[in-house]
Amino acid sequence: MKLLAIDDNQDNLLTLKALLQAFLPEASLITSQSAADGLRRAKLESPDAILLDIQMPGMDGFEATRRLKELPATRHIPVILVTAHRTDALCRVQGLECGADAFLSKPIDESELVAQIKAMVRIKKTEDALRRERDSLEGLVARRTFDLSCANEALLENLARLAESEERYERAVRGTSDGLWDWDLVSGACYFSPRWKELLGFAEEELPDRIDSFFSRIHPDEEALVRGALEAHLSQRVPYDVEMRLFTKSGFYLWFRCRGQAEWNERGEAVRMAGATSDITERWQMEEQLRQSQKMEAVGQLAGGVAHDFNNILTVIAGYATILKMDLLGKKEQAEVIEQIVTATERAAQLTRGLLTFSRKQPMAPLRIDLGEIVLQVEKFLARIIGEDIQLQTEILPVPLPVLADKSQIEQILVNLAANARDAMDKGGRFTIATGLQEVDDGSLRGHQLGACGRYAVITVVDTGRGMDAETQKRIFEPFFTTKELGKGTGLGMAIVYGIVQQHKGFIKLESAPGQGTTFSIYLPIVDERQPARVEAADQSAPVAGCETILLAEDDPGVRSMVELVLKQFGYQVLVASDGQEAVEMFAANRARIGLILMDIIMPNKNGVEAFAEIRELQPEVKALFISGYTAEFIQSRGMQEGVDLLMKPVQPMELLRRVRSILEQKQP
Ligand code: ADP
Ligand code: MG
Repeated sequence: MKLLAIDDNQDNLLTLKALLQAFLPEASLITSQSAADGLRRAKLESPDAILLDIQMPGMDGFEATRRLKELPATRHIPVILVTAHRTDALCRVQGLECGADAFLSKPIDESELVAQIKAMVRIKKTEDALRRERDSLEGLVARRTFDLSCANEALLENLARLAESEERYERAVRGTSDGLWDWDLVSGACYFSPRWKELLGFAEEELPDRIDSFFSRIHPDEEALVRGALEAHLSQRVPYDVEMRLFTKSGFYLWFRCRGQAEWNERGEAVRMAGATSDITERWQMEEQLRQSQKMEAVGQLAGGVAHDFNNILTVIAGYATILKMDLLGKKEQAEVIEQIVTATERAAQLTRGLLTFSRKQPMAPLRIDLGEIVLQVEKFLARIIGEDIQLQTEILPVPLPVLADKSQIEQILVNLAANARDAMDKGGRFTIATGLQEVDDGSLRGHQLGACGRYAVITVVDTGRGMDAETQKRIFEPFFTTKELGKGTGLGMAIVYGIVQQHKGFIKLESAPGQGTTFSIYLPIVDERQPARVEAADQSAPVAGCETILLAEDDPGVRSMVELVLKQFGYQVLVASDGQEAVEMFAANRARIGLILMDIIMPNKNGVEAFAEIRELQPEVKALFISGYTAEFIQSRGMQEGVDLLMKPVQPMELLRRVRSILEQKQP
């Protein structure tokens, strides 16, 4: 406890000191002998109480009290005035008016002194505590007030923004051509904006605000799509953005794009969904036009590419044929030239097969075969394709890899891959073909859109060529996509590979980077080894000659004379017709002696199907063999019934003779 005593009389101060030492030893005393000095000390030391004499020269005790009570720094310190006489009431009144807190009279009574000081100090402490409390409360209130006013300000700002955005939204809705909808999934009610109804040609009151107004107008072809997209959005939060046709008031369908977003409650249930619908009919029509013109361009490119390849082949055939005609060669050289012609026709046949596969018209004849064996069989052929500057390496897994596959198509895959590898390595390099076995499970499938789980036979082809950037990789399987110069690439190679692999229920993996070479992995499902192989033994027997009369109807003079020659060489009598009508007439005139009709299908003046129907009217049990460059599937779609005998072009003489013989020898049903 710290006390300040102010008294001009040194003796009084000493007495006081003695008293305090005796009766209040915990108090330390500061003394001052004038009011002015006392005030300074009070400010400086902030004592717990001040004992102040009244009578002093200069400033007296009253004035000093007033000043102490005025100053913020000293206002809270209790002032005990020391009066000369206990009974001096006037003096006490004046002291109270100045702000004194207590009085002591001289001579000072020690017990009164101690009691007064203790009381004053206690009061001061309590007041101090209260003041602190109040100060902190005030601070708190001030802070709260400040926070509140900030919040208020923010709220006002938000309100202003909200009003602004609402206005903007309204302007946007009025300005946009989108129709809006807001569907309450709980009650089933659905708000459609007037514009939404207008898009479908309806006035506001003509369509009820029910979700069925939408669902009942979806084109049947898109209904499953829309419902699926909705389901995926509501349950898995897949973005909802679908294009569909909606039935309009005027009685036809228009194309719309519909986007929306649901809201989910805390249990994860979708409760509401809202979105916008826009008319995209015009865009659709333009896209359709674009597709059409792209198709035309693609067809042009294809025709160009095929024509280029065919011309090369024809050049070879025509050239060698001319040499043969000049008859300047010896027997051995002749045989060689003929061999070249046969090879060229094989190439041409492969080209057309590729086209058919590409258009998915090539019938597949899958057999259980060993993949490694096929690779070994085409190895030599591939070496010829890639040329001498490129090293060919094969690594065949020494276990059987049984797959259900069409051998010629697997060869086609390898040929196409090899051709691309060659084009990518114009400065030479290495081309590796390896076979392998791989278990594909969920883990290895994740992230790829590949086939089903299971065991796969894998052909991996690696080249050390220029590789591809990401953009090329993305488009590589697109039909007609090529980076090669005009006339060099058709852009069909990889599309054909893709088509074949798809048909075989397999998949393709591709790894490449510019300058880093390319790796293709072709996965084909392994078939059960116990499954019996459906091997159709190819008929290699030498053809047998005959003497029957055959009516040959074929519009292409080249094919017609070739077939006629072959048949005559083997003893047959041949009548020829160059179109369908002529065939019918010729049959009518010679029906008694004709044993078989050999007829092309696509002909002018009645096609083969029509001509055959008329001939059958004349003689129902007539035998026929059709020739066509199209597949059986295609021909059936032209009205030919199933089960007819069909010989595919290009016609191979030996095959033709065998088929003719076997049909002639069939018993009539
Ligand atoms: P084309 O060979 O007629 O261009 P493809 O369908 O066979 O058509 O190939 C398409 C494109 O893919 C090629 O033009 C080429 O850019 C790229 N490509 C295919 N295979 C490879 C490869 N092994 N290395 C580099 N690029 C390749
Ligand atoms: Mg190619």
